[in-house]
Amino acid sequence: KEIQIRKQMSNMKNQFVIFGNPVEHSKSPQMQNAGLKHINFDGNYKKHHLVDGNTIKDVFLQNNYMGANITVPHKEDAFANADEVRGLAKEIKAVNTYINENGKVVAYNTDAPGFLKAIESFGTIKNVLLLGAGGTAKAIALALKSKNINVTVLNRSQGKLDFFKEHQIPCFSWENFEAETYDLIVNSTSAGLKDEYLPCDKEILETVFKNAKFAFDCVYGKITPFLALASENALEIKDGEDMLLFQGLLAFELFTNTKADNSVIEAMRKGLKGE
Ligand code: NDP
Repeated sequence: KEIQIRKQMSNMKNQFVIFGNPVEHSKSPQMQNAGLKHINFDGNYKKHHLVDGNTIKDVFLQNNYMGANITVPHKEDAFANADEVRGLAKEIKAVNTYINENGKVVAYNTDAPGFLKAIESFGTIKNVLLLGAGGTAKAIALALKSKNINVTVLNRSQGKLDFFKEHQIPCFSWENFEAETYDLIVNSTSAGLKDEYLPCDKEILETVFKNAKFAFDCVYGKITPFLALASENALEIKDGEDMLLFQGLLAFELFTNTKADNSVIEAMRKGLKGE
């Protein structure tokens, strides 16, 4: 019986989750569990459907979770409720990772470095046009800025631009946009996720595609209308799979306190793809 209790306790010790609402669609459990299994880590990762984001820290601690990822719509609440926020997350004001450090809830944003890692395959990038101004755009814009890469934001509406103005990032709505030259165009809007919309006017896209070399879409697992148009205009394209993988990988390293090698990356990629 004692062994059983100890086993239960050790399982409790290494329980990881993803908080979201909805969370059913999340592929993080299959990706993270593949990584845990690959390194023989005694732990498990599951979904936790959370309705009230303001309860996130209490729920995390009451369940003795060792680590968590946080997805839509709780990233800002998770930031506000954490005991300590580390790294670029302090400026982004949204977090996607919680770590339980002896009862202290420490928060990180791994979306930002995950994005940077995902665009490494394009080579050197100097100027980026970032479409969208939501939570993901904030992380991407500050990630690029932290690497001294010029970033310009273009969004459908004015409403969400204040954050970028505060960070001295040039930003426009569709009405007042004047295109310059960019190497990389990034779609961080949700256009193309569940519909077949382009993230902005086709004319604007065709203008900026003329001088650009690369297009990246945060949406993963499909060729969105944005990527299809970029490809027609001879740009090298990439979907959001690597961004999802690398944000997960960086969280995994924090969860397990290990440094992941290529074999872990490949195990997690296979897990993500359900292979
Ligand atoms: P938010 O809801 O915070 O922001 C959505 C943004 O998209 C807003 O700027 C909004 O503009 C714009 N938008 C929505 N619909 C349209 C449309 N039809 N045309 C033009 N603009 C539109 O979302 P997130 O930032 O959290 O997520 C954005 C995308 O990134 C999603 O598709 C998500 O799945 C993906 N994502 C991928 C990740 C990965 O790891 N690959 C990680 C995180 C997100 P407005 O301000 O005018 O409303």
